[in-house]
Amino acid sequence: MISVNEALDALFALVSPPDPEDVRLRKASGRVLAREAVATRDQPPFSSSSMDGYALRGADALEGAELTVIGEAAAGHSFEGMVSPGQAVRIFTGAPLPTGADHVEIQENVTRTGDHIRLESPEKSPANVRPLGGDFRAGDTLRAPRRLSPADIALLASMNVDRVTVARRPIVALISTGDELVMPGETPGPDQIIASNTLGLEALLAAEGADPRVLPIARDTPESLESAFRFARGADLIVTIGGASDGDHDLVRSVAGTQGLMQSFYKVAMRPGKPLMAGRLADVPIIGLPGNPVSALVCGHVFLVPVLRAMLGLPAQLASRRTAPLAHDLGKNGPREHYMRARFNEDGALGVFERQDSSLLGLLSSADALAVRPPHDPPRAAGERLAYLPLG
Ligand code: AMP
Ligand code: MG
Repeated sequence: MISVNEALDALFALVSPPDPEDVRLRKASGRVLAREAVATRDQPPFSSSSMDGYALRGADALEGAELTVIGEAAAGHSFEGMVSPGQAVRIFTGAPLPTGADHVEIQENVTRTGDHIRLESPEKSPANVRPLGGDFRAGDTLRAPRRLSPADIALLASMNVDRVTVARRPIVALISTGDELVMPGETPGPDQIIASNTLGLEALLAAEGADPRVLPIARDTPESLESAFRFARGADLIVTIGGASDGDHDLVRSVAGTQGLMQSFYKVAMRPGKPLMAGRLADVPIIGLPGNPVSALVCGHVFLVPVLRAMLGLPAQLASRRTAPLAHDLGKNGPREHYMRARFNEDGALGVFERQDSSLLGLLSSADALAVRPPHDPPRAAGERLAYLPLG
């Protein structure tokens, strides 16, 4: 059995990013920038005032100075003349600084009488001026790859970039397998259950930037699975759920085998999620997840999310882990890496749930984190720091 890290490396070797695409900036939030974006202008494009007040020469910014107001500058409306010694221009936030002026005295420090002002307690010059290009200069870039945040969108907008090149969303075909499954909203027979992790995985993948496609449930017959694989041909990645163990009704590997599966690995030393399978099926990467609801979602966090990030052109690496103090003592771990549902208490310490059965979705839903126990981890005492994967 290979380790989680070895499995992840093998998965990274199976996938590659699809060709990028151009999208409008307004549709680019959360997408991964694939090519650097270049500013076509300086920001601000002129020196401007950061306050409402009076623009003047710094040399005139003296206690008790009396100046003549010769005009006004507002945002979008320059003052066209020149500010000479002894003169000032009424100015508002965002207005271009008039020629000759290099200082803005805020209105609170000024007494005005008609066209004259007196500086009561002026600030040290220069003040309240935003220099040309203080935010960025023409030619400055936003580097790729990078997942675009709302702040990035605003920055690109101010660069006057209205289209960006982003990674195409990888199409992920999700194939649930099992005679016992019906989709949510349908009426299950007396021996049936609802396909649950399928929609959880769809949500997880969509949130990471994939284009997940939930295919019709494949029944536990070769014909049904074959037709599901045919449906999945155009995808960038195929993910099967269930049917991956060694039981009589676990057909994923055998049916994929008859269709030319090039298996990369089968079985990973982890809990939950041991019967993980990966390979290529007719040149499409395929990952076979175990069917137990929690196993499938844990594998989603541990494997699918990093794989998807690699397909989006982001660095190929382990899902980022943090550490937190344990809220209680914890027994030793067995030979497999164990991902345990856990929750933070009010003090920020991690409490690991007693029950860890891989069918219990309620406990996964109320967990904040998956505590990560390395193989053969010794017993841990309350207060010791433990690695965890954040959830949600
Ligand atoms: P399998 O890997 O097919 O043996 O499935 C293991 C367990 O997970 C069984 O109890 C299945 O009923 C259950 N299971 C399989 N697929 C799903 C699914 N998509 N949603 C919820 N439970 C599932
Ligand atoms: Mg099954």
